[in-house]
Amino acid sequence: MDEEHYPTEYPVPDIARYRRGNTGIDYVHTFDSGRPGPHVLINALTHGNEVCGAYAVDQLFRWQARPARGKLTLSFANVDAFARFSPERPADTRWVDEDFNRVWSDDKLDGPRASSELARARELRPLITAADLLLDLHSMHLPAPPVTIAGPHAKGRELARRLGLPAFVISDSGHATGARMRDYGGFGDAGDPQNALLVECGQHGEATAAQTALDSSLAFLREAGVMADSFFAAHPAPAPVPQRFIQVTHPVVIRSERFEFAQRYTGMETIPRAGTVIGHDGGEPVTTPYDECILVMPAPLRYVRPGFTAVRLGKVIE
Ligand SMILES: [Zn+2]
Repeated sequence: MDEEHYPTEYPVPDIARYRRGNTGIDYVHTFDSGRPGPHVLINALTHGNEVCGAYAVDQLFRWQARPARGKLTLSFANVDAFARFSPERPADTRWVDEDFNRVWSDDKLDGPRASSELARARELRPLITAADLLLDLHSMHLPAPPVTIAGPHAKGRELARRLGLPAFVISDSGHATGARMRDYGGFGDAGDPQNALLVECGQHGEATAAQTALDSSLAFLREAGVMADSFFAAHPAPAPVPQRFIQVTHPVVIRSERFEFAQRYTGMETIPRAGTVIGHDGGEPVTTPYDECILVMPAPLRYVRPGFTAVRLGKVIE
C-alpha cells in the first residue's frame, strides 16, 4: 500500500473572514436566539486537513443559519494547521505539533505541557464545556463509507439514530493515545445530558464528503430543534437511510517494525469467517477473532508504527 493521492473535488473555503468571532475566541461565532433551548455547536477542522467540515460550516454561515430557539455556535478548531493546508499535500496539515483530538483530558489540559494544539484546546475548552450538543465534522485518509462515531454510551447511539444518517454508526470508547473532544467532560458521561457525535464524512477530498458534512449538519440541527421550519424549507434536511450499528471490540495494536495488511483495506469491509488472515505483524499472522468482523478505519501506511493501531475490529450490534 503506497502513499496515495486523492484530489480535493470541492472548493476549499477561505475562512479568514470568520476569524473575528463574537465570543472572544477567534473563529468561533455564537448566535443566541434569546429564547430557551439547547446550545448547539457545529465544529470543523479538528484536523487541519479535513476540509469537508469547513465547507459545511462555511455554507451554514452563507445561509445565515440563525437559531429560533437556544444558541448555535459555529467554530473552526485547528485553524493553525488548516492555515498550512495544501491540496497537493493534504496529509501534512493534519496538525501542527500533535493530534488535537487526543488532548481532551483534564490532566493534559491542566498540565504543564505546551503545544499549538493544547493552546487551542485550552482556548476552546469553555465552549466545549458549555455546549449541550456537539457535532464534530471529520473525514478519512482512505475512501470508505461515511460513519458516525457515536462514542461508548447509548445516548450517542440514540442521537445517531435520530439523525438517520450516515448508514454506519460506530460505538466505541476512543483511543489509548488520548481522549477525543467528543468524549470530554459530560459528553463522555453516560448520565450527563451533554451529547456529541463525530461524523467521518468520507475520504478527505471527495465531493460526497462535503455533501455528507452538510447533510449531517442539517440533520443535527433538525434533531436539536433550534431552527425555525422556514430554515429547513429553504435548506431541507436529508431523509433518513437504513443504519447499521457496529460495536468496536478492540484495536489491532502494532507490535513490530514490520506490519502489513494482507489486502488493500480502506474501511468497513466485513470479513465473513473467524481466523481469516488480515495482515502480518513481524511475520506473524493477524487474524479475525470472530465471524462477520468489520474493519474500522484501517491506518494508512504512513501511520503504521509499533504501538500504533493498525485497524479497529467491530461487530454488528443491530
Ligand atoms: Zn479527523
